[in-house]
Amino acid sequence: MARLARTAGLTDVQQEILSTVRDFVDKEIIPVATDLEHRDEYPQQIVDGLKELGLFGLMIPEEYGGLGESLLTYALCVEEIARGWMSVSGIINTHFIVAYMLKQHGTQEQKDHFLPRMAAGDVRGAFSMSEPGLGSDVSAITSKAVKDGDEYVLNGQKMWLTNGGTSSLVAVLVRSDEGHPEGTAPHKSMTTFLVEKEPGFGEVRPGLTIPGKIDKMGYKGVDTTELIMDGLRVPADRVLGGVTGRGFYQMMDGVEVGRVNVAARGCGVAQRAFELGVQYAQQRHTFGKPIAQHQAIQFKLAEMATKVEAAHAMMVNAARKKDSGERNDLEAGMAKYLASEYCKEVVEDAFRIHGGYGFSKEYEIERLYREAPMLLIGEGTAEIQKMIIGRRLLEEYRFQG
Ligand SMILES: Cc1cc2nc3c(=O)[nH]c(=O)nc-3n(C[C@H](O)[C@H](O)[C@H](O)COP(=O)(O)OP(=O)(O)OC[C@H]3O[C@@H](n4cnc5c(N)ncnc54)[C@H](O)[C@@H]3O)c2cc1C
Repeated sequence: MARLARTAGLTDVQQEILSTVRDFVDKEIIPVATDLEHRDEYPQQIVDGLKELGLFGLMIPEEYGGLGESLLTYALCVEEIARGWMSVSGIINTHFIVAYMLKQHGTQEQKDHFLPRMAAGDVRGAFSMSEPGLGSDVSAITSKAVKDGDEYVLNGQKMWLTNGGTSSLVAVLVRSDEGHPEGTAPHKSMTTFLVEKEPGFGEVRPGLTIPGKIDKMGYKGVDTTELIMDGLRVPADRVLGGVTGRGFYQMMDGVEVGRVNVAARGCGVAQRAFELGVQYAQQRHTFGKPIAQHQAIQFKLAEMATKVEAAHAMMVNAARKKDSGERNDLEAGMAKYLASEYCKEVVEDAFRIHGGYGFSKEYEIERLYREAPMLLIGEGTAEIQKMIIGRRLLEEYRFQG
């Protein structure tokens, strides 16, 4: 991108990482993304390349073999990757959330056991809150863990696990009433379990089944699955942080950084849509001139570029706030909300600029058009973001009269 979505104040290291990732995206992702997406094919070669670049360990501390980079560096890399193909950013996102949760909340033994292999990309993470009957209302989770000696027995069904098949470690949020008397608030009786499994489909561990991939309208290539627990036995030392009842807070912490990540994806997809729109508008002629010379199309380009800039600035602000150690739920909620809505609008404008060709699978914008809506839903819908934003505003601007 020549001019849009630049970030001031980056260190030399950040700039070097970003330019390496941008180069990788231009050479290894963009040329193959649409073909792979149409075939719903897992991008193994791209994933191997990301592994080599160390991207699976980008935010994992150096003492565990990672690069120890900030949330901002991570988000800017995600923005670049999503510009190439959103599904690839989805492959690293759940991994990143699980690694972040381990770093923040894991016991020392859990960090030592998982983080070095996660940094190398040999253990890959997925996270699982949603169930067939709920997504937004996490407090309504029905999957359950019951203590049995030194183990817990887990039962229930989970839904919408991104990387459910390809991962080997799933952070699963379930209800665990043990130690929590009847009537305990739902969010205080939930526990995150670290469930290790073989990658693949079918019964991947006794009591744990990953049925096949869910057939999706977009966001293809990356696998999204259900997860069925039927008497799944998990040792007590695989409770994240070693203490039950903290799962809800741990997951919400993970989702908060995940929201910055989804905002970054929205920025990346919108940038690509702008690039495609501005190029096409200069090539296509109607009424004797390039359509870019019609004011209506120029206005569209102006609106698209303004949205790309605004979303990028909010995403960077939310990441920097978290990196400074401050609470960023308001900024992350705003960035996720705005970036996903703007992304959908910019993609639609680029689609319109393409006229009939936008409807053809030969043009990349067709893929982006099917990808953008996922950002309106994942990591909390627009309505949920507005609830978070509204609540925080009322805390900040409490009426003192
Ligand atoms: C491709 C894909 C990948 C996903 N990956 C994962 C994953 O890796 N892990 C995971 O745990 N989940 C994942 N999800 C699930 C995702 O987080 C949920 O779909 C999302 O949170 C919405 O939940 P829902 O689908 O149950 O919708 P619902 O919660 O049923 O909401 C339906 C509609 O009602 C609105 N609504 C709900 N409550 C309110 C309210 N109080 N006020 C106003 N409006 C409301 C919602 O905004 C929405 O418009 C994924 C989803 C998709 C589509």
